Amino acid sequence: MNTMDTSSSSERNVPKSQVRSMQKWIITSTEPPKILRNCPKCGGVQKFVCSGNFRVNANGRNIDVWLIYKCEECDSTWNMTVLSRVKPEQIEKSLYTAFAKNDAETARKYAFDKSLLAKNHAITDCSELRYALEKQMIDDGSNTVELVCEYDIGLRLDKVISEGLGISRAHAKTLLEQNNLSPKTRVFGTITVKELIFNEIRNQIHENYSSEEQTTSDSDVTALSTERISGR
Ligand SMILES: [Zn+2]
Repeated sequence: MNTMDTSSSSERNVPKSQVRSMQKWIITSTEPPKILRNCPKCGGVQKFVCSGNFRVNANGRNIDVWLIYKCEECDSTWNMTVLSRVKPEQIEKSLYTAFAKNDAETARKYAFDKSLLAKNHAITDCSELRYALEKQMIDDGSNTVELVCEYDIGLRLDKVISEGLGISRAHAKTLLEQNNLSPKTRVFGTITVKELIFNEIRNQIHENYSSEEQTTSDSDVTALSTERISGR
């Protein structure tokens, strides 16, 4: 007897490499935390946004460096101290160049530096920060979702799961609780989520593949695929 493939068409269409794989979600904040402080011009607490610019002041043998923030409403500035009364030879040349040319990555590093923010008594507001979510599919059969977020931007796990999977916040909370994870967990560093959540993703992939005409064969699917989602 001819051993024909007896699986349903939807099952046939699911590339095996995507069914049992690890998903890595890389979360990157596209803007640094805002700072809440009294604005003398507005006359109340306002959000101050990092301008990305440094101010360098050389006073005799001492150098001061600040990162400039601006009031969201009126552009009044607040300078966050980065270096105070430092001798020129104590600053690496590459760092000095980065300050001088307002290097974006350097500004970003300081704007996310918790100890520096604390030193400056800065109260951060991460409530409306935009972020990007990049999904990578790694074919290692581990059935996990690994969330990686370099900086703590106050993102809650249920928010990321809800936006990453396109499900309701309530549904995300339930899934997390079933996995003994608190929905309030801050997404920071690396968090690994197993089993139930992965099943949710598997169902989704299944739906996606069975809902449209597929011409891709298993061998055409690369082990690594990426997708970008923007969140707020
Ligand atoms: Zn203002």
